Amino acid sequence: MALWFRRVGQLLAVGVVLAATLWPFYQVGQQQLTRAEQARIDAQPGVSRTRYQPRLDQLQQTADFSTLASSEMAGRRPGQPGSELARQFLQRRFTELGLIPAGTDGFTQRYQTDGQSDGVNFVGKINGTDPQLPAIVLTAHYDHVGVHHNRVYPGADDNASGVAAILALAAYFQTHPPRHSLIFAAVDHEEQGMHGSKQLFAGKLLDPQQLALNVNLDMLSRDTKAQLFAVGTYQHPALLPLLQSLQQDSLVALKFGHDRPAAVAGRVQDWSDASDHGIFAKEGVPFVYFGVPDHPDYHQPTDTFERVDLEFYHKVSDTILSALLLLDQADMSTLRQKNN
Ligand SMILES: [Zn+2]
Repeated sequence: MALWFRRVGQLLAVGVVLAATLWPFYQVGQQQLTRAEQARIDAQPGVSRTRYQPRLDQLQQTADFSTLASSEMAGRRPGQPGSELARQFLQRRFTELGLIPAGTDGFTQRYQTDGQSDGVNFVGKINGTDPQLPAIVLTAHYDHVGVHHNRVYPGADDNASGVAAILALAAYFQTHPPRHSLIFAAVDHEEQGMHGSKQLFAGKLLDPQQLALNVNLDMLSRDTKAQLFAVGTYQHPALLPLLQSLQQDSLVALKFGHDRPAAVAGRVQDWSDASDHGIFAKEGVPFVYFGVPDHPDYHQPTDTFERVDLEFYHKVSDTILSALLLLDQADMSTLRQKNN
């Protein structure tokens, strides 16, 4: 017993010495990978034009954005009064947009979560002109962290911006019919375990086999470098040639990145499951996530509508519309081929 104990002690000591010796090499390796990944991102094209003919209803989109980010909606946390106002608003807007109800009760899918307030997703559809094609699902979470210690966290960029964008895109596609059916989902509880997007599958509203792609929008309205990231081209390399055409003639600096594991990219943040698209990925559904880098107001009471960059936001939204139009024309069966 004593000998056995001493052997384990010796082995542990050797392990600690080995780890302490190798750790600096690992650190240096990670730093080199990070620098290489940052250089790869920086080398991608920046903004190449500033003028464009708006295709989305910018006035309506701005109004929807400011309403969702208002102090009345108070950060839209499930169980708080602001969330109820946001739900009434979404019910009204989905109805006004004339979407086909695709929830379990009209547009809504109500669900319960253990130990948390009940959630409500809003789901509407536009039928594609080719009924043989699988659907594209646009998601944006409408919840945020709400009121904490009497302070309101309005969640303007995160994610009133994404929800107002899917409403504007729905209005566009109502008058410009897509080939693929489009499903628009404003989901709840992203900030508390992503229960909303999980429920889309758990409640059998969505069948992974019937879906071509998830396009998730989360944080679209501000970046000091005017960068918009498209995340998911690492997992789905067939997206690259499609979306690269947008890089060449771009209103914003569209960048591909934040989707590589640390072994490939080093310490650059991997956003592959940072928002609802991660739930689609787990279900085997290809995804592309559009979002801006974190900023000092991220998850702060200062993430207000007053601090967003509306000009940039509308350019981002127009870029996402261009991406959707390209994706809608593409053969998306190739997206399920994996990167090796
Ligand atoms: Zn978010």
